[in-house]
Amino acid sequence: NDLVNKIAAGEVIERPASIVKELVENSLDAGATRIAITTGAGGKSLIRIEDDGYGMGEEDLRLSVERHATSKLPEDDLDHISTLGFRGEALASISAVADLRIATRPRDEELGLQLRFVDGDAVISPHPMPHGTVIEVRELFKNVPARLKFLKSDRAESNAITDVMKRLAMSKPHVQFILSGSDRQTLNWPAQPVSDAEDDFQGDKNRLGQILGLDFAQNAVPIDYQRGPVRVRGMAALPTYTKANSLSQFYFVNGRPVRDKVLLGALRGAYADFLHRDRFPVAALFVDLPSQDLDVNVHPAKAEVRFRDAGLVRAAVIRGVMNALDAAGF
Ligand code: ADP
Ligand code: MG
Repeated sequence: NDLVNKIAAGEVIERPASIVKELVENSLDAGATRIAITTGAGGKSLIRIEDDGYGMGEEDLRLSVERHATSKLPEDDLDHISTLGFRGEALASISAVADLRIATRPRDEELGLQLRFVDGDAVISPHPMPHGTVIEVRELFKNVPARLKFLKSDRAESNAITDVMKRLAMSKPHVQFILSGSDRQTLNWPAQPVSDAEDDFQGDKNRLGQILGLDFAQNAVPIDYQRGPVRVRGMAALPTYTKANSLSQFYFVNGRPVRDKVLLGALRGAYADFLHRDRFPVAALFVDLPSQDLDVNVHPAKAEVRFRDAGLVRAAVIRGVMNALDAAGF
């Protein structure tokens, strides 16, 4: 069982950033409005995530570290992308390859609980704390030297964590994110008020400004375009504000951060007349379409999507961005 868990862990957890992604998604699923992440040595020595979400009662806590145990409805999850996790693998996998400690307190409980592993067995004890959940992951891959060897430098792993955080924070402007640690400068993105109105994206825009900076905000155009079932929103920098690398492109499909060649190609296509080969546009694009028009279960970590009609999505992105640039005089 230990071996099975270790192998399973390899599919879920490649590096510290994949742990951060899983844990932050759990916090979001738990309704957190404030998520604070602390890292040490690029996440190799420490990843600590503190949230103010629902917390777990004793039974949920005990189950949380069992494989394939999830408190989230799987049937629902397959069709509707309502929760972010991938069905009860993350915590069990993490516990197989690192020291895991969980402290949690539901809103209606007076006292919290702590779960630790003693000689491989989960042990739960009372633990005073504010409501919410704290998860600590220490000494990642200390028992899997083959994987430890493949981790990059502390700085590279730390940057990968920042990148994951940026993407998640962009998709949840109403949540406060704090990222700190001995290995980094503190980032703090306060919660943005989000309006229920269909066409009010001020909160999303504010969050993009927090993350991508004032320069970006002052040199970008808003995008809001509908083509058939595909809606494209976001902000894209003017062709005069570009970067020498493609790290500043952020794509979201139905609210979920993704990496996708169709979207990347479409964005480049929209700038084709303006950009030299070695320059890259800065943009955050939110693409929404009916869930039956896409397949989210391509990869367990779900950073990838497959569009049923890639041509339509491509056309919508190109047109949406070009119209916005056009309106700005380009
Ligand atoms: P999944 O997210 O697919 O359910 P995980 O292994 O990521 O699987 O988490 C297992 C369970 O632990 C979740 O279903 C949830 O009940 C609980 N859990 C994990 N993190 C949190 C959290 N931050 N707050 C509340 N509950 C949590
Ligand atoms: Mg999860």
